[in-house]
Amino acid sequence: MKYADVIIDISHERLDKTFEYIVPDELEEQVVEGVQVVIPFGQGNRAITGYVVGLHDKPGFDVTKLKPIARVVKDSIAIESQLISLAAFLKRNYGSTMNQALKTVIPIKKKENEKMKKEISLAISLEQAKIELNELMAKPRHALGKERLLRELLEVDTLDWELATKKLQVPTANIRDLEKKGIVHIESVRTFRNPHLNKDANRKQITLNEEQEAAAEQIKADIDTGRHKTYLIHGVTGSGKTEVYMDVMEHVINLGQQVIVLIPEIALTYQTVMRFYTRFGDKVSILNSRMSPGERFDQFERAKSCEISIMVGPRSALFTPFANLGLIIIDEEHEPSYKSEVIPRYHARETAVYRAKLAGATVILGSATPSLEAYSRAEEGEYQLITLHSRAMGQDMATCEIVDLRAELQSGNRSMISRRLKELMADRLSKNQQIMLFLNRRGLMGFVSCRACGHVLKCPHCDVALHLHSGGIMKCHYCGFTTKAAKICPSCGSKYIGSFKAGTQRLEEIVKEAFPQARVLRMDADTTSGKNGHEEILAAFAAHEADVLIGTQMIVKGHDFANVTLVGIIAADISLNESDFHSGERTFQLLTQAVGRAGRGVEPGIAVIQTYQPENYAVVSSANQDYDSFYSQEIAFRRLLSYPPCSHMLGIQVSCDKQKDAYGQADVLADLIRRTDPEIVIMGPEDAYIGKLKDVYRRVIYLRADDYDRLVRIKDAIDKFLLEQKQYRNTSTWFDFDPINT
Ligand code: ADP
Ligand code: ZN
Ligand code: ZN
Repeated sequence: MKYADVIIDISHERLDKTFEYIVPDELEEQVVEGVQVVIPFGQGNRAITGYVVGLHDKPGFDVTKLKPIARVVKDSIAIESQLISLAAFLKRNYGSTMNQALKTVIPIKKKENEKMKKEISLAISLEQAKIELNELMAKPRHALGKERLLRELLEVDTLDWELATKKLQVPTANIRDLEKKGIVHIESVRTFRNPHLNKDANRKQITLNEEQEAAAEQIKADIDTGRHKTYLIHGVTGSGKTEVYMDVMEHVINLGQQVIVLIPEIALTYQTVMRFYTRFGDKVSILNSRMSPGERFDQFERAKSCEISIMVGPRSALFTPFANLGLIIIDEEHEPSYKSEVIPRYHARETAVYRAKLAGATVILGSATPSLEAYSRAEEGEYQLITLHSRAMGQDMATCEIVDLRAELQSGNRSMISRRLKELMADRLSKNQQIMLFLNRRGLMGFVSCRACGHVLKCPHCDVALHLHSGGIMKCHYCGFTTKAAKICPSCGSKYIGSFKAGTQRLEEIVKEAFPQARVLRMDADTTSGKNGHEEILAAFAAHEADVLIGTQMIVKGHDFANVTLVGIIAADISLNESDFHSGERTFQLLTQAVGRAGRGVEPGIAVIQTYQPENYAVVSSANQDYDSFYSQEIAFRRLLSYPPCSHMLGIQVSCDKQKDAYGQADVLADLIRRTDPEIVIMGPEDAYIGKLKDVYRRVIYLRADDYDRLVRIKDAIDKFLLEQKQYRNTSTWFDFDPINT
């Protein structure tokens, strides 16, 4: 006998509330997670519908009190069913409770009393309003609040709800009453608005080139014949992938279906977002990570009610409740931001493929530098590979020069800018062309250390270095801990203590010194803190208000500046030194994207890669823009060491504010794993990359297996154990399948 947990209300606050029902034998096959069922409910056994969110073999309650499920709703294609199945998929494959998974998939519904920004305006003409006001005042005992409100609205177009109720002290009942009488409007304002469309901007009329056409036609033909596949479009930078997406999107929308487009980060892909707008107008909505849960909920409601048919957004846009989803696009498929960093730690790629299967939809993954995961699946035929070999308008790829920094150093140049790069910069500036200088952020941060003994000053609450900030303070970037900058080294007493300036800042100074006439813009975490920081800098550079753009990896993502003819990569190998097995892949991706920024317009481009490891395969193959060569070397390395995608990994993290208990629990779990699956490869337990964060100690265990389900079984065993465990209940444990930031 099986038992099912059923939820009867999809609203967010009620997800916790499940009811247990018996699954009658004859329904056993049909009752799966997500399915809609009819159940007898309450005293009168009213027949109502609900959704199955969990199944188990043992009843959680007294069986004699349980009622059986009446029937399964046939062909329940309800979008809710799909989303609940999706939640079940997240729970099963990434590790979380059903509740956490449901909350990931179903957005938070605004509570009635949630303070919303509301605006009050007149629903009638000014003339009528004056009459109303006069009539009101003619009454001997009228509501003064109404009078104040009407007077104010005769002066201003709209009035903030807060202002009206607090400052003008208009009682809520008065406002509601005027609303009921049709005198005022109350409108909830979204602080997020769709960007203003410049209708005059004449959209470039684009005809797909042969390669693009062939790609789009192939996908459309499959869709028309009911074949729903996953495609990987591998197209060099500037090959026009976005135009292919849009062509297929139009086709799908004309079929009356909807589209989800995932992009890595809105702020950084502003241009791309605008292209979807200019093409599809009001059909498009955008989710962004700065939105409040309420705003997100609003956008999802618009999707549900078919007000829009395209949702563009980060990975969470994947859960847009489109009832008739036809296509999911994941642009820049290789981006690490597609992996969730909170439980359940799902990957948008796998989850998209699963959702598409449920919905009968097509998936398009696109990248100039596909992830090893996606490309190996394409090789195995699981995804269909489509290659765009050349740039959209036949522009040449940038030529690439590698500068050996060791030789540069030996010949006496200690500057961040090599002679060759400097020479090219001078040339470009004299021709009024633009330059981008890219500095890999990692490793070049302004942390505080002692030059005498090498001691690094760390946060007392976290196992990370402190950073120097203006005003003579040091700060922890993880917990915000702030303290006065040290004058002497706490370890050796020397006074040679200081910080290395953040690389981008230093670079800016050097460029300004070398080229005083050049107009320089810098884009990094410091300069983009404002709400529109990114957009403003990018727009200014696009308008050629600056000659040189200096930045971290932020500047290499998908921007299309036609006048950029030189890209300088200041220190290519910094990301190679990371211990993570992804470091070769990340370096290749960053360099290839950076090189791809040059020469997108009429003038040919040059990229200069400065490196200490000129022979490294990631550096060489990105200089040659040769993905195949990179892939074949990298996959061989992964195969040799049995790393993903040639295997699967499971990270298990135990955390606790008591170090002893974090260690103890990690050891207990390691033992449990050995008993559950004696053959499995275990690494650890060891301290996490950041072993202490905000005074919480973190231990990790990594497992490796060829078979994903083997790892899932271990996760399930641990989950079961944790439920019953009496010891170490003050620790917490989470899972990370195929971790990206190990
Ligand atoms: P990708 O996404 O592959 O980097 P994009 O789609 O951004 O490439 O295209 C690069 C540039 O080429 C864009 O400015 C785009 O408008 C232009 N473009 C793409 N396809 C064509 C085409 N068939 N004809 C003319 N211009 C095109
Ligand atoms: Zn010291
Ligand atoms: Zn800290």
